[in-house]
Parts: sequence; C-alpha cells; structure tokens
Amino acid sequence: MNEFPRVFLKSGRDRSIKRFHLWIFSGAIKRIEGKPADGDVVEVFSTQGEYLATGHYQNGSITIRIFSFIQAPINEAFWTDKINSAINYRRSLGFFDNPKTNVFRLIHGEGDNMPGLIVDYYNGVIVLQAHSVGMYRTRALFSKILLALLGKTVQTIYDKSESTLNTAGEENAEKFLGGDVGTGNAVVLEHGNHFEIDFRKGQKTGFFIDQRENRNLLKKYCNGKQVANVFSYSGGFSVYAERGGATLIDSIDASEKAIDLAKKNMELNFGAKEIHRYFTKDAFEYFRDLDQKFNVIILDPPAFAKHRQALNNALKAYRRINEIAMNNMSPGSILFTFSCSQVVSREDFRTAVFSAAANTGRNIRIMHQLTQPADHPINIYHPEGEYLKGLVLFVE
Ligand code: SAH
Repeated sequence: MNEFPRVFLKSGRDRSIKRFHLWIFSGAIKRIEGKPADGDVVEVFSTQGEYLATGHYQNGSITIRIFSFIQAPINEAFWTDKINSAINYRRSLGFFDNPKTNVFRLIHGEGDNMPGLIVDYYNGVIVLQAHSVGMYRTRALFSKILLALLGKTVQTIYDKSESTLNTAGEENAEKFLGGDVGTGNAVVLEHGNHFEIDFRKGQKTGFFIDQRENRNLLKKYCNGKQVANVFSYSGGFSVYAERGGATLIDSIDASEKAIDLAKKNMELNFGAKEIHRYFTKDAFEYFRDLDQKFNVIILDPPAFAKHRQALNNALKAYRRINEIAMNNMSPGSILFTFSCSQVVSREDFRTAVFSAAANTGRNIRIMHQLTQPADHPINIYHPEGEYLKGLVLFVE
C-alpha cells in the first residue's frame, strides 16, 4: 500500500479522470488527507473513496498532473517503463537511425503520459525541461534511466528547467545531469540541413523541433522566390528556403541573439551570401518599413495567448499580422502562417486568418493545414495537447 497523500474529488468531478484526462483543476477537489507539498506524489479518489489515479501535486489552477491510472509504487521501475515506451515509439518512427535527421523530441509531456516533462534529443545531447515541480524533483532519476536505456547514443544530459520553473532555491543545482559535461553547442542534422543548437542559452530547449516537417514542406515552394521569414528565431525556415532555391531570404526577429543564430546557421549551410538579409526588428515595424512585395512569407510568431484571458487580444494580433503580410505579397504568392498558442483552437485561428483575408479582399485558397509532427504526439484523451496549427495559403 502506498503512503501518498490522498486527494478526494467532489461528486461528479471524477468523470473526466475516468476518461483518462490528465489534469485535475483546483475546483474539482473536495478534501485532502495529508499535507502534500508542491511536487509530491498524491493519489486521487472519488468522493466514495474509489481509487482513480496518481499524479504530481502542485498548488495552482492545475493542481494535479496525472501520470498513472493504476495504483502502483512510483519508483525507478515505474518511470523506466514509461520512458521506455516513449523511446520505443520514437524508434518505431525511425528516429534513432536516420542518417539525415538526428534531432527530435524524445518525451512530449502529456503526449507521452508524462505531464510536465519535456525531453529533446540533439545528436547525442539530451535536454530535459521540467514544467512541473514533481518532474523537476525527479530529474536525476530520469537522467539515470535515459543513460541506462540509450547507452552510447547519449553524450550528455542537460537540465534546462531554469526558464520554465522557479528553480531559484536551487541555484547551484548541477545543470549537467549525466554523461560528459558538454562544452560546445550541439550541431544537428535535420533533413540533411545543419543547425547549431545553443541548448544552454537558446529559447525553449534550444530549437523549435516541432516545425521540422513544415519547414521541409516550405522548401518545395521556394524555387526562384523572394522569401520573408518573419519571427525567424534560429533561421529554421530560412535554411530550407535557400535549400529550395530562393533568390532572396529575409530573416526577421526582434531578438538580436536569435538573428545571430539565424546568421550562423545560414553560413553553416551555405556560407555568407548577399541574398541573405537579417533584420533585428519588431515584425510590425519590418512590414511598415518594407518597400517591396514577397512571393513567400512565413509567419511563426510566439504564442500570442499564454492563457485564456489573453485570447481575444491574441486573436486580434493574429488577424493584424496576417493581414499585413497578405498586403505585402505579390499575386500568386504563398503564405505559411502558424499559431503555437495552446488556448487558440484550430477553429479560432482559422477564423482570425479568415478575417484577415476578408479585409484584404484577395482571392485566397487553403493549400495545406499543418500541425505538429509525430514526435510531438497528442494524447487522444488530452486534446489540449494539439497546440501547433498552421495554414498554407495561396494568395492571388
Ligand atoms: N520559426 C522559428 C521559431 C519562431 S519562435 C523556427 O522555426 O525556429 C518566435 C520568435 O519570435 C522568437 O525568436 C522571438 O524572439 C520572436 N519575436 C517575438 N516577438 C516578436 C516581434 N514582435 N517581432 C519580431 N519577432 C518577435
């Protein structure tokens, strides 16, 4: 019998858990036996005392993140099983022996039944990022298990939870959890393109792996085209644009560090060229100062809405930026437009882009509807996990 604190739900609030949803909100909790601290493992019961699930407790709107629907001991064997399942899934996708791609997501939170845990693989460098205290506290064990399961395919395991959690009390915490203490950046291959990943200082875990297949699709449409990659970060889409034969590539990002990375990656693949232009600028300003039209534009902004309250403003921002882009496109051009806000639904995003299109009055076709790749799986019981939405539009 486990000795975990016990959380009892209000009557009727067990329904979503019985359908394997992974979050318990504070409003669903009736009473707690024991005094769980943030990060503690708790067991969840119905009002009648029926066992429902086990998860990590953390004071906040989402109070419990579920990782088991079976009343089992939560130990090394338990986590090994879960991590093994995530690894085997990626193996079945062919990720560990792909000569052209050695960057992928190894553990995708809820999508892999491990809410609060992100693990990315960068050509031997594993970057772990905890989004919950419970997962953060288990990081050393995760590192040990990953090393045991992956053996020689791992050089180093790095913890990058600093930006996602308040780890202030743990300032001296060792960042290198396992393997060698890395010195340089990771250099990876994605569809045969090279990228240098600053996994220590970069955004997220260092790279936006989730756009891999969408970047590859872009390549098809760039031959002889003038391309503007707006919100470029480390130049992912810019590299594919050049690979696809673009004749001009603008990379635009408000962050100087991002533009430095974009330049580095373009040079890594193609050397410095005059057709590569870089703008450390706000996207709206870039368009305002623009004196030419483009054949291909990519809009991949940061999450405009991080929570529900911000939804309306976010939708307005999506509409505005898309309208501005459409007005800067020559006839017969292609727009790749994205939203990575979890609270913006596919429907909401389409409506925002639709309103933008209507304001321009142009004839526009939807060519593709895009999403996140298979290494960022969506748990079927947790639809909130579908966060990346994209549209490819033909603008006449
Ligand atoms: N397309 C990129 C990821 C983009 S992430 C890739 O494939 O890797 C979003 C980027 O938008 C970040 O790099 C951030 O610095 C930048 N950004 C945020 N606000 C901005 C603004 N107002 N104008 C321009 N760039 C902005």
